Amino acid sequence: MLVRRLQFLKTLSTCSIEASNIHTQHYDVIVVGGGHAGSEAVAAASRIGAKTLLITQKIQTIGALSCNPSLGGVGKGHLVREIDALDGVMGRAGDWAGIHFSILNRSKGPAVWGLRAQLDRQRYKDFMQSELLSTPLVTILEGSVQDLLLTEADPGKPGKHKVYGICLANGGGEIHSSSVVLTTGTFLSGALFMGQNTTPGGRMGDPPSCAGLSHNLKNVLGLKIGRLRTGTPPRIVKDSIDFSLTSVCLPDSSPTPFSFINKHTHCTPKEQLPCFLTYTTPGVEKVVKESSHLNSHIQQDIKGPRYCPSIESKVLRFPGRQHQVWLEPEGLTSSLMYPQGLSMTMPLEMQLRLIREIPGLQHAKIQTPGYGVQYDFVCPTQLFPWLQLKNTQGLFLAGQINGTTGYEEAAAQGLWAGVNAGRTSLSMSPLSLSRTQSYIGVLIDDLVCHGVTEPYRMFTSRAEFRTSLRPDNADLRLTIRGFEEIGCVSEQRYNKALLVQASLKQALSTLQSIHLSAARWRDKLGGVTISKTKSSILNGVEVLQYKDVTFQMLASSFQELFGPHLEISERLKVEALYHPHCEKQRREMEKMQTEESLSLPNDIDYLALPISLSQEVREILDRVRPSTLGAAARLPGITPAAIVHLFNYVHRNK
Ligand code: FAD
Repeated sequence: MLVRRLQFLKTLSTCSIEASNIHTQHYDVIVVGGGHAGSEAVAAASRIGAKTLLITQKIQTIGALSCNPSLGGVGKGHLVREIDALDGVMGRAGDWAGIHFSILNRSKGPAVWGLRAQLDRQRYKDFMQSELLSTPLVTILEGSVQDLLLTEADPGKPGKHKVYGICLANGGGEIHSSSVVLTTGTFLSGALFMGQNTTPGGRMGDPPSCAGLSHNLKNVLGLKIGRLRTGTPPRIVKDSIDFSLTSVCLPDSSPTPFSFINKHTHCTPKEQLPCFLTYTTPGVEKVVKESSHLNSHIQQDIKGPRYCPSIESKVLRFPGRQHQVWLEPEGLTSSLMYPQGLSMTMPLEMQLRLIREIPGLQHAKIQTPGYGVQYDFVCPTQLFPWLQLKNTQGLFLAGQINGTTGYEEAAAQGLWAGVNAGRTSLSMSPLSLSRTQSYIGVLIDDLVCHGVTEPYRMFTSRAEFRTSLRPDNADLRLTIRGFEEIGCVSEQRYNKALLVQASLKQALSTLQSIHLSAARWRDKLGGVTISKTKSSILNGVEVLQYKDVTFQMLASSFQELFGPHLEISERLKVEALYHPHCEKQRREMEKMQTEESLSLPNDIDYLALPISLSQEVREILDRVRPSTLGAAARLPGITPAAIVHLFNYVHRNK
């Protein structure tokens, strides 16, 4: 077994040490799985100061993009920005590996713009591996975890069990730690499907997680486990595609980086590659129908990703429609294209027949077939908002194992689980992120309060405070707290966020202090249209809300006042646009924060509580055991009256 020990290495060159050295050490945190959740968990735990061990089946698949070669999008781009604001790796990796950047949803307001990039698969993995391999306090072990080491819970703290390490497969022995973060993705009891063939596996080419792990979770810890499925399209040889029959989609001429610390992306605007769009034909529908009886994956009654459905489910649900197929490059020099929209699990010969029914793909060759995967997930209502299992001290879960889908959702949870595993191992209290503060908070709150019935993905519509939780201000929302309270952000990044915060504050207050008539503003700004209907006197923020007014225009008229803030001109425009909405939202956010701050003890006996609650409400509270009054208020079936009674009860018994 190969172990790689990592000390500030800038390249992938590593020095190996004997695996036996690892067994004599005690780790603060062990992370199981080096996917998107695991990578962020390891990095975050080490930033907290925890001595961390990552155990993953194959070092070469750390950071692997199992499905689409892209990052971000609407809602998902917000998560990447927040991960970056908390000093995570994903945003910087995306800037390094991106080969086609575009902002989605531009017709709507900047609060819901979706930063997105096509990625070079290999570059993304290289960046992630090199980053983790050079992270202080991190050790990486190639191996498979077979079991959790469990004992009785510490008295006086919530939980029945306590984890104290893991046991490796193939007689690899035990390794001890204070916390364990499980991020096994699609690998828990994973099974791969193509046509009528089923083989055990977590992903093509990779075995599933050892059966002992599933057994432990189900039978020893008694967790409620569910089953979900997903699938991926065949990869197509680029040279076999006739692009003249497709339409070209160009990237943004000026790529927007994901990371707050990057001014530019690694790929220059000119180096970026285009994507191509084509459509399905009636021939596609015919092949799907002819092959349904040969397709075990779609015959099963297990929920798949609603927003990323297979071509089989799209055609069967919406017969007679044309469906989009995006042909996306797999890398700068890759010879493959990824056909987004064509996830399929029919037999290989039928896959080839199907794609050849699509304009541009009549002579297409398949390099790797599409396939499906079914896997176990742990119902996430069994987690605290800090992603620790309620019944097991020290055991944290993150990523697809919690019923989500997508790299960004996985990474966001991984970061938060890593932070909290690190903190609890070092005897610091665990922390939650509120829905009023971040999309990561929304994601985790949705999971732990409502659970999942189908793979969960992020959308901007899930965030009730989306005009305040914007991709442009994730640093102000999270970086400062990340340094001052959480401890996962570097001083350098913190100082940068403070400078931006001060500059925004000063510029906005100066803008608010300038009051001129509409006519005077028009003169100052070279005749730009400013209607008088609002009020005859406007301040600078109100003027900046006009579509045709830019901060640069104001800076050229008031050079001394605004010249120093030109670097944040785009951010000032967005701040001005949302100024009135955010003011209104602030009161609602404060109300929610007050409810959030009232903790509900984990040992309340809701069924016997001597207050006026219906049996239905008692049962919901008993089943979910929300950790705050706010979380209780958001549960379906919980009435406002029940919240008042609960509030009074907790206050009386404080
Ligand atoms: P993963 O990225 O799956 O990583 C899990 C890691 O854990 C792996 O490195 C594995 O080797 C390791 N591991 C597992 N068990 C053990 C063990 N016992 N010991 C040590 N290491 C272990 N997402 C979408 O958003 N849209 C899609 O259409 C989509 N389609 C997909 C199709 C397929 C076939 C697959 C496999 C995934 C698809 N995904 C899709 C999901 C996407 O890949 C995941 O959401 C994301 O990768 C989850 O990240 P994760 O870190 O939770 O798990």
